Amino acid sequence: MSMADLDVHLVPALDDNYVFLSHDAATGACAAVDPSQSAPVEAALDRLGWKLTHILNTHAHGDHTGGNLDLKRKYGCKVVGAGKDAGAIPGLDIPVGEGDTVQIGASAARLMETPGHTSGHVVYWFEDGQALFSGDALFSLGCGRLFGGSAAQMWASLSRLRQLPGETKVYCAHEYTLANAKFALSVDPHNQALQRRAGAVRALRAAGKPAIPSTMAEERAANPFLRADNEDLRKAAGIENLSAVEAFAEIRRRKDRF
Ligand code: ZN
Ligand code: FE
Repeated sequence: MSMADLDVHLVPALDDNYVFLSHDAATGACAAVDPSQSAPVEAALDRLGWKLTHILNTHAHGDHTGGNLDLKRKYGCKVVGAGKDAGAIPGLDIPVGEGDTVQIGASAARLMETPGHTSGHVVYWFEDGQALFSGDALFSLGCGRLFGGSAAQMWASLSRLRQLPGETKVYCAHEYTLANAKFALSVDPHNQALQRRAGAVRALRAAGKPAIPSTMAEERAANPFLRADNEDLRKAAGIENLSAVEAFAEIRRRKDRF
């Protein structure tokens, strides 16, 4: 077993949320990322024979933290989340910020502050495990709505995330991929990488399978919110005269109305 061994299990919860169980094979440590509910997480842990040691929250919204207290009571696990959201994350034990490292057994996650969806939003990047838990910042073929941060903040956050290694698996907190693909094709219709990904997503969803995770390379090539500075998209969308931030904001507005 090397430090890179990270088993990630998807637990569907609520209507379209995923809770991710990230298991460090070397030590048995296990983190639940954004547990919206406790019951489906407990059932999955029982089935897998894993014991929860940590909860990782990307932000304070209830569909990401609703299971915190029940899981903490049952497993005595530690709750990790943004120090900036300390008052809003139930049961927070370990407040973290930009550049901090969270140790889950032998696996280390680097914290990145990614404001935009909310002002306190963070993501967890397991460099050795080649996994990014992106919460509601980066979705597959989409991004979170701007609820507490600005378009400029979100564009800056996404511009950092897209620089992560292409093989990084992107585990986002919602299964919005099919709807995101439809919108993406409306602003970036000639993008062949997007057409391929949209076809793959349609097939996965038609078979009842998750479209998550994707890879960062796929997102860089196909996600319109990572391509606000791409000439082909800008021409197709008629926004070639806007700055990258303005173009991002315009794409986000169009998605809000789509
Ligand atoms: Zn949210
Ligand atoms: Fe959410």
